[in-house]
Amino acid sequence: MNEKELDILTKVNSDTQVWRPLEDKFGRRHTYLRVSLTDRCNFRCVYCMPTVEMEWIPRSEVLTLEEVVRLVKVFARLGIDKVRLTGGEPTVRKGLTDLIRDIKGVPGIKSLHMTTNGSTLAARAGEYRGAGLDGLNVSMDSLRPERFSEITRGAKIEPVLEGLAAARQAGFETLKVNVVVINGVNDDEIIDFVDYAAATQSHVRFIEFMPFLGNGWNRDHVLPYAEMKRRIAERRDLLPIETEPSAVAKEFAIGDSGGTVGFVTSVTDDFCRTCNRVRLTAEGRLKTCLFLAAKESLRDAMRAGASDEDLAESIHVGLQGKWAGHPSMEKWIGSDDKAMVQIGG
Ligand code: SAM
Ligand code: SF4
Repeated sequence: MNEKELDILTKVNSDTQVWRPLEDKFGRRHTYLRVSLTDRCNFRCVYCMPTVEMEWIPRSEVLTLEEVVRLVKVFARLGIDKVRLTGGEPTVRKGLTDLIRDIKGVPGIKSLHMTTNGSTLAARAGEYRGAGLDGLNVSMDSLRPERFSEITRGAKIEPVLEGLAAARQAGFETLKVNVVVINGVNDDEIIDFVDYAAATQSHVRFIEFMPFLGNGWNRDHVLPYAEMKRRIAERRDLLPIETEPSAVAKEFAIGDSGGTVGFVTSVTDDFCRTCNRVRLTAEGRLKTCLFLAAKESLRDAMRAGASDEDLAESIHVGLQGKWAGHPSMEKWIGSDDKAMVQIGG
């Protein structure tokens, strides 16, 4: 190991064997890892899965579950304490329950969450919870069966609603419903979703529509956060909730209903300044920002015999390439040749 590597791996505390934390050149400390388990999906949402011919990652090039666990261990020693499983659809991966158990057992990992389309939850929510999964974000962009099918290009809403009920029953610490709001497509359901959150005492997160390969994005399709909030505030009381500085969503209680709403405002009011997130793509590349191309192949390094220290160094080096913030969507558009389903949301 050379001197530079030694510096990168300087132990903060020799007892805990924690390596130098993941701080980028703008002083942002990274503690949250989002892991894409696959680029495949059983839904084909219009805003995520393009209609153009896509090249799927060959299975041999996708990280094995053992490789995922090894990398999580390395990230944990670099100070990552929160992990989110995503994709593609993470629940299409065989062995997911064991993976959840293994990741939850990694020293230093305090919380493990998953973003899913909810299609397997009716059967498996209890199993995932039993294995240690702490929280779920379930995507559901319409409460109307026909529209839900149109947005997902053919999926049915009933299993997702049953999955949400099963997740509630299983007692997840956090259970959120993600709604990508597309102006002219489902923006007329915002109040319905607020009422759903209030009635089920749950949390609904409205996400501004972002541009990715082949999803037909343009500014007119974005309903800005300010407008969503204005429309809701006309009809319901929104009371601000204090969140931690790195939170991506602006959160509000819906009066005293017990339900809450959040807004993820990547398009009109980004949260880059306090970003604490790094991503791992399904084929094991480090991605330091949703809008920056994935770079360092940790998979190739692992398969070529890299030690954990080597992997940690690659992660540190990669993190130094992270930018202060992403440009406006119009400037960025076309810079990436990947669809959201391939990137890992
Ligand atoms: N399949 C899972 C799901 O649908 O929740 C996980 C992967 S999905 C890519 C992760 C999240 O990204 C989902 O909440 C989805 O709604 C969101 N998403 C996908 N495409 C998006 C876009 N163009 N703009 C905003 N959010 C998007
Ligand atoms: Fe699949 Fe999720 Fe993308 Fe929909 S948003 S196509 S469910 S990965």
